[in-house]
Amino acid sequence: MKNKISKNLKIEDVTSPKGMRDLMNEEYYAFQGFFEKAQEIAVYYGFKPLETPILEHEEIFTTGIGQGTDIVEKEMYNLKTKGGDNLALRPEHTAPLVRAYIEHGMQSMPQPVMLYQYGPSFRHEKPQRGRYRQFWQFDSDVLGSEKSIMDALVIKTCMTILEEAGATNLSIDINSIGDKECRNAYTKELTNYYKKNLSQLPSVDRERLKINPLRILDSKEEKTKELNINAPDSISFLCPSCKKHFKEVLEYLEEMGIQYNINKNLVRGLSYYTRTVFEVLEETTGENSSAIALAGGGRYDYLARQIGSKKDVPAVGMSIGVDRIVASPWYKKLAPRILKKPKIYFIQLGTEAKLKSLNIIEILRKAHIPIAQSLSKDSLSSQLAIAEKLAVPYALIFGVKEALDNSVIVRDMSNRSQNTVKLTELLEYLKELK
Ligand code: AMP
Repeated sequence: MKNKISKNLKIEDVTSPKGMRDLMNEEYYAFQGFFEKAQEIAVYYGFKPLETPILEHEEIFTTGIGQGTDIVEKEMYNLKTKGGDNLALRPEHTAPLVRAYIEHGMQSMPQPVMLYQYGPSFRHEKPQRGRYRQFWQFDSDVLGSEKSIMDALVIKTCMTILEEAGATNLSIDINSIGDKECRNAYTKELTNYYKKNLSQLPSVDRERLKINPLRILDSKEEKTKELNINAPDSISFLCPSCKKHFKEVLEYLEEMGIQYNINKNLVRGLSYYTRTVFEVLEETTGENSSAIALAGGGRYDYLARQIGSKKDVPAVGMSIGVDRIVASPWYKKLAPRILKKPKIYFIQLGTEAKLKSLNIIEILRKAHIPIAQSLSKDSLSSQLAIAEKLAVPYALIFGVKEALDNSVIVRDMSNRSQNTVKLTELLEYLKELK
């Protein structure tokens, strides 16, 4: 927005911020229908709702997501309030969810605590197809259990939501990056490997080597990607308990018939992960075929302590990217429950009728009869034309005579037959109609 001083904006300056958009009409309903379905599934599996603020204290993200990650270093929207607080627009939902768990003393509730939440996240990324600066995520998380079946439950919930939304060609990339014990030995080995190949390492990744060598594994640099093919893999370094945990997760997936690929380079873009990490990809076919990530998640057994908990809270969660789903050709267009197909088109004619129209509509609303109307129109022909276009089976015609008689004409749109019905008998009469 260039024109800060002038009173009136120029029409070309009236735009939403780059990478952020208005949700309207069909697209809005597509999101709403998805969230209803996702909630229904999450609630079925035992998750309870949570809604955290869109803004959090900056440190909630910097401590948890971690230095050396793109999200913290480049993509976060930070703001200083007039009161001097450093806040950030949430770039993801997990750290706020853990903050809420700690703040509300959920450790003293029966464990595990299972929560779902959804809403917009913000990352200052380069906008492109399927990548926005404000995008919507649906998360579900299990806190307070290290059992492998919880990892399986989270993955199953994620897959069920995606499948119910219409996704078919899904594959899961999965990996285990171990715990404190085995991760150290692994990072040492990884650091040695990159040091040996330092001349081939681009400068951004050399920087990462100093801060967090694991981050190099998900580098977007072509040279690094080549180098990563032969990098040591974390699975070979897993300690016996991490190995057992990972093996169990895979067994659960096999038992449920969920296909997976072990991807040894998968570490994910956030530093808080431990043990299981996974990503759900849609295999696209055709010319520009490349896998696109619809969801991701993993375990984060140490995040709670980083955010201030006195003890570790083993936890696992997933996050679904909703924008990519509703934009997919396979999306089922899940209709939100508030959208009802109108059974009746309400037509009013003349001042007396218009005056009473809203009262009649209220009778129908209370009886849960979905209608359509265009109260701003006056003529019969224009209203009938809309009724025909909407293919509504019945029309209620309310004219001056009917307004005086307290009656209404019910017209069958298929054969144009009509009956005059007393308002007191209208609901009974409508109930009898097919
Ligand atoms: P992440 O929090 O990075 O694990 O992301 C979880 C999911 O959110 C991804 O699999 C994507 O589907 C989606 N996602 C992440 N970043 C964006 C973005 N900038 N625009 C749209 N969707 C995104």
